[in-house]
Amino acid sequence: MNMNTQPIIFDGHNDLLTRLWLSAAGDPVHDFIHGTLPGHLDLQRCRQAGWMGGLFSIFLPPYAYVKNNHPEKLSSSSNLNSDSDSDSDFTPQQVIDICCTQLQLAQQLQDRSEGLIQICTTLAQIKACQHNQQLAIVLHLEGAEALAIKPELLDVFYDAGLRSIGPLWNRKTIFGDGLNASFPHSPDTGSGLTKQGKDLILECHKKQMLIDVSHMNERAFWDTLEIINQPIVATHSNAHALCPQARNLTDRQLAAIKDSGGLVGVNFDVAFLRSDGQRDTQTSLDVIVDHLAYLVDHLGEDQVGFGSDFDGCLLPDELADASDMDKLLERMQQRHFSNELIEKITAKNWFKVLDKIWQ
Ligand SMILES: [Zn+2]
Repeated sequence: MNMNTQPIIFDGHNDLLTRLWLSAAGDPVHDFIHGTLPGHLDLQRCRQAGWMGGLFSIFLPPYAYVKNNHPEKLSSSSNLNSDSDSDSDFTPQQVIDICCTQLQLAQQLQDRSEGLIQICTTLAQIKACQHNQQLAIVLHLEGAEALAIKPELLDVFYDAGLRSIGPLWNRKTIFGDGLNASFPHSPDTGSGLTKQGKDLILECHKKQMLIDVSHMNERAFWDTLEIINQPIVATHSNAHALCPQARNLTDRQLAAIKDSGGLVGVNFDVAFLRSDGQRDTQTSLDVIVDHLAYLVDHLGEDQVGFGSDFDGCLLPDELADASDMDKLLERMQQRHFSNELIEKITAKNWFKVLDKIWQ
């Protein structure tokens, strides 16, 4: 790149903690810290790329996915207490254990990194990480299934550093309908928030947590806007006008996010980028830049960031993992994004919106 210094990258969404949980054997926390973990992220590659951290998701994967790909996670030999013989979904205890284990994995990353990894709850802490070249973890809960079972876990997670929540994921819960991530489809895929869903959002709002609308269907999105008065953030979603996937945001939604002072983090998953919605990794990085440019047109330069979905998505071939981020930054330069705009998208806009929400 022709920039004087490599810009730092703060990223709105990744699924590292879920991947660590799914790792079948060995010591994935050690492997992450020492740079031998397969996947999109490990500490060495992050440091090399200037990828200084972001929102790390605690996430309950689909039951069928775990059962088919990681059956050992459901066996009685794991530390999950199987208190029912249900074979169609997790037991309530499994849901809680899966989320708590991912939280513990984040704490282990911090505790075993010899000061190189820090769980952050304020912008000052994130800035200190930038200064000290530490990896900054902001804890995010993607889907609130565990809170439906045990509401008091919200306080436990908050005390452990949770500062961001996506109250709904794709499945239906007591908080609302999930989002059916189909293509081509509008985001209007079901009912909005239930009374419990609204109460949960208000409680998180009171705690000044970030409320993520990325997996909300359109009715839940508008319900959320009605009940809270803070910047609205879609941590990892794209422009519906360029890729008509239900997970992406319509121009009306983008206008509402802009008015709220919020932000959209661009997702690198090819199925959320491509105009044909195909899971085809032969996708040019120009398509990511197209979404960035469209969002800058609609939201302005100060309300767009990255929301890579590393470790939870199918990336374009040109972007094998976090260490290839310089290729994307180069492409942005070639497309005449100014250095100033690149620095806003890579980190500054995220810092600004977190500061507004957390203050
Ligand atoms: Zn997601």
